[in-house]
Amino acid sequence: MKTNQSKKLYKKGLKHLVGAVNSPVRAFSSVGGNPIFMESAHKSRIQDVDHNTYVDYVLSYGPMILGHGNKKVIKAVKTAVDKGFSFGASTAGEIELAKIVCDAFPEMDKVRFVNSGTEAVLSAIRLARAFTEKDEIIKFSGCYHGHSDALLVAAGSGLATLSMPGSKGVPKDAVKNTLIAKYNDLESVAQHLEESDNVAAIIIEPVAGNMGTVVPSKAFIKGLNKLARKYQVLIIADEVMAGFRSHFGGAYELLGLHADIICLGKVIGGGMPVGAYGAREEIMQMVAPLGGMYQAGTLSGNPIAMAAGIATLSELKKANPYEGFNETAAQIENMLLKAAKKHHVKVTVNRFGSMINAFFTEQTVVDFETAQSSNVKEFATFFWELLRQGVSIPPAQFEAWFLSTTLTKKDLKQTALAIDKAMEKVS
Ligand code: PLP
Repeated sequence: MKTNQSKKLYKKGLKHLVGAVNSPVRAFSSVGGNPIFMESAHKSRIQDVDHNTYVDYVLSYGPMILGHGNKKVIKAVKTAVDKGFSFGASTAGEIELAKIVCDAFPEMDKVRFVNSGTEAVLSAIRLARAFTEKDEIIKFSGCYHGHSDALLVAAGSGLATLSMPGSKGVPKDAVKNTLIAKYNDLESVAQHLEESDNVAAIIIEPVAGNMGTVVPSKAFIKGLNKLARKYQVLIIADEVMAGFRSHFGGAYELLGLHADIICLGKVIGGGMPVGAYGAREEIMQMVAPLGGMYQAGTLSGNPIAMAAGIATLSELKKANPYEGFNETAAQIENMLLKAAKKHHVKVTVNRFGSMINAFFTEQTVVDFETAQSSNVKEFATFFWELLRQGVSIPPAQFEAWFLSTTLTKKDLKQTALAIDKAMEKVS
């Protein structure tokens, strides 16, 4: 595996970019070594600047569910580009994407588009507070909801990768209304609700991709519904990552969670910067210009991003790849367990729809604590050998691997061989 060009770019990038990156997890901090710079991608494969190609399970951390360079999406984006980049006025595309999204979520009468998952979630929290006239939110440790101040507490994703409990620069006052509960632990939620009558909402990743992949138990979901009803708090389903990945809608629906506000991102922009939050009519009435909850954005509903989203979701609906995703994820799980057994490596595999992850631990991974029992040194060895064998997964234990509709039998064969070699290296 050649890395000369990546090394050169990394050195050059360090001069004007912090850590030579624009998002921390790209720096390969927890796996060590030089980050790889990518140059192009086609369907299931991505190519770096040294012309190594990899089967891509990062998929831009989720958005590229149709694989790279889908022809219909490219055509839609090119058509939109020709018409103009941004108008600061409403366009038909926004209405079209809003209809596709609202039709996919029974609880969503109206939606507001923003530019990222972070914006979607911070707006959803403001909306929950406006609607309930309460201040506190319950958040689960290990869940990541973007980088707004109030949510950078006990967060997964990049913070977990860098072993950061929170972020410097966040005032105590900004997190004083954030109560932390344990994923899959109803009692920890009930306790907060017993102790406070100022809780506006419980925010949850219905499938927690930012701890790796952690799936909620049926009892936990059922209990959350009951608690939310009993204490009159809203449930915010953060579907920024899981949305459209297990069926054409939210993972929360499959799991039986009763969500009041839904946050979206990643897939709905097909690789362009789009986020969204939506809810039933009476809640969305709170949002300006109709109501007194203010939220705005110069580039929100950008016509090019809307075109990418419409084309992506339309193609996804047509392809209906979800049964296939489950089968492929089961195949990959088998590859991991088989290779781990062969090479005497302790591994726990979690998966849901097109999200999957392997933890280097014997423990069943149900929350942040058990996710953190994974041996991250073994993960780093595994990661680098996979890369050398032409398979790219996120360079961090606490990120999900994603499947796209473009994965081929050849890709899976290569993946199986790479996993076997990587497990051998770990052993
Ligand atoms: N919520 C979840 C569940 C996420 O996974 C992410 C990002 O990974 C975010 C919110 C933040 O989204 P963005 O990175 O687009 O701001």
